[in-house]
Amino acid sequence: MISSKLPKVGTTIFTVMSQLAAEHGAVNLGQGFPDFDVPQALMHALEQAVRNGFNQYAPMAGIPALRQAIARKTERAYGYMPDADRDITVTSGATEAIFNAVHAVVRAGDEVIVLDPAYDSYEPAIELAGGVAVHVPLTAETFAPDWQRIRDAVTPRTRMLVINTPNNPSGAIFTHDDMLALASLINDTGIWLLSDEVYEHMVYDGARHESVLRHASLRERAFVVSSFGKTYHCTGWKLGYCIAPPSLSAEFRKVHQYNVFCSFAPAQHAFAHILDAQPEHHEQLGAFYQAKRDGFREQLLTTSLFPLPVPGGYFQLVDYSAVSQLDDVEFCRWLTIEKGVTAIPLSPFYAQPPAGQRLARLCFAKNQETLDAAIERLNAL
Ligand code: PMP
Ligand code: GLN
Repeated sequence: MISSKLPKVGTTIFTVMSQLAAEHGAVNLGQGFPDFDVPQALMHALEQAVRNGFNQYAPMAGIPALRQAIARKTERAYGYMPDADRDITVTSGATEAIFNAVHAVVRAGDEVIVLDPAYDSYEPAIELAGGVAVHVPLTAETFAPDWQRIRDAVTPRTRMLVINTPNNPSGAIFTHDDMLALASLINDTGIWLLSDEVYEHMVYDGARHESVLRHASLRERAFVVSSFGKTYHCTGWKLGYCIAPPSLSAEFRKVHQYNVFCSFAPAQHAFAHILDAQPEHHEQLGAFYQAKRDGFREQLLTTSLFPLPVPGGYFQLVDYSAVSQLDDVEFCRWLTIEKGVTAIPLSPFYAQPPAGQRLARLCFAKNQETLDAAIERLNAL
């Protein structure tokens, strides 16, 4: 019998629910992926890259043209220009970047603070590095960070803090005050920051994305991770990147070099072109998803599900307590099998799910027809 290095890990809730959706012909608002096309110009650029022969290994850190385009985009968005050669590494999705960042700095016995509800890939990366995930809950209902609780969780063994804004699954975003609290927490400590910003361009109602990259004292200690999959509707291409200061990037690249060596070359060429040629795509992404969010929330009012606020990201949390008292995993199975709509339960995002919480996550990054079909079924609850 093999003794598992990851005894707590099973199949992800996203895969489980997508399989259940397929089995039962349910409208799948579970796993987070858009069901509409990538921009035409991007498709064309990818095709051109393949035809132009960019089909062999890319440079380990990513092609220079893409790293330079990311640097320019970062400057336009956050007023800070990272060094394309030393600070930026192109990765196989944000998942790889998260794994590399953790492995670059976490040693056996180190503690890493994660804020629950937390994305599922953080803890296995920490455990494989020999570290221990220390779970601190976000505030109930608002999902705001509780800085006192986070401060109380810090010990001499704390090596890293993981943050995620906009947050998956809650959609909550960090405020400017949160960034100040964060800075006062980690400045003058040995704590590194891993900032998962894959939903950076999906922030609504005039709020601004509080990227760690805007804050000089924070970015000196941080790995900032993003994903082209989210921004360009192509989660299956698995391309992302990490921005970190040179000393951190050097260690990050050691892991990246022997994890994948380099990431999908044709897509790197395609994004290098599109980032400069069509900056409006990511600049208008917030407005695009805000309209989807607003339409979907209005439709939900005709159902018995209660929608929580969505400051960012592309997930809508709903309180289903008027419909059912099942726990969230059972409710999402029932909703899929009996009612034909798939949602994601929240409890798998927690080390200790709050007792009695009746929340499910719906993804609104979908065509209007998909959302209409889901609402028609949800109206029958
Ligand atoms: N972080 C968060 C918060 C996510 O939601 C996701 C994917 N949905 C990822 C990381 C992974 O991104 P990628 O698909 O680029 O690996
Ligand atoms: N990040 C996506 C979500 O939250 C799923 C990614 C996956 O399936 N691993 O739904």
